[in-house]
Amino acid sequence: MFYKCIVIISILLTLPALGFSQINNTVAESFILEFYQPSPETEPYALLLAESGIIEEAVADLEDLFSLPVPIKIVFASGIEGPQYYQGVINMPYEFLMQNDLILSAAQFSDDPEVIAQTILNLTEFVLYHEVGHALVDILDIPVLGKEEDAVDGFAAILSSIWELDEVALSTADVMNASSSLNAGSDITDAEFWDSHSLDEQRMFTIFCLIYGSNPKEHASLLSDIGMPAEQQDRCQYDYNNTYRNWGRVLEGYIKN
Ligand SMILES: [Zn+2]
Repeated sequence: MFYKCIVIISILLTLPALGFSQINNTVAESFILEFYQPSPETEPYALLLAESGIIEEAVADLEDLFSLPVPIKIVFASGIEGPQYYQGVINMPYEFLMQNDLILSAAQFSDDPEVIAQTILNLTEFVLYHEVGHALVDILDIPVLGKEEDAVDGFAAILSSIWELDEVALSTADVMNASSSLNAGSDITDAEFWDSHSLDEQRMFTIFCLIYGSNPKEHASLLSDIGMPAEQQDRCQYDYNNTYRNWGRVLEGYIKN
């Protein structure tokens, strides 16, 4: 339930230099960010987020990049369903951070609490970009050919790479790997095949592939470390360029500069 709104961040845009083409543009706030009081159980995670400032930075970067006809509201709270996008609102429950903390502990991901905390923050940032991808598809009526979940993972990977936040995407792939390692040895259920998301391992490989493809020199050993065959690695650069180009095409007109 919502308690009281503790922070509302409204980033006001400065209007671009006025020209005829811009006067009628809907240059309003494109993103509204709201944090609500956490439940006692999720308070440490809300504090972790607040102290890191990553969400405020992410939203400021989004605001700098996009000019949208209607704003997207981003809500961080306890006891809400999500992460999800629905009718103009992205819900980001603090419980999501807690659940992934449990997954990383169960998978013995690291002994270092700082590594765990940073991984959870990176994951949260990536998932926010993923949900922004869903929001853009809806608000801008973007045609999606194929699985929307895969398309918006690609969108989140592109944002991570252009903002030089490769770790945001790579941590997300690490969490997916940790999560799937917990189920190692058990059969994939029908429910997992029916899920709108690809399997965690597939999502992990796709994210690694796109980040490698964004800069193969910098990430030279990334794919061999996770065992992707060399002949498939060449595809990643094509996939990255293709994803980048296609998102650029459908978002043309909504990107500043
Ligand atoms: Zn999704």
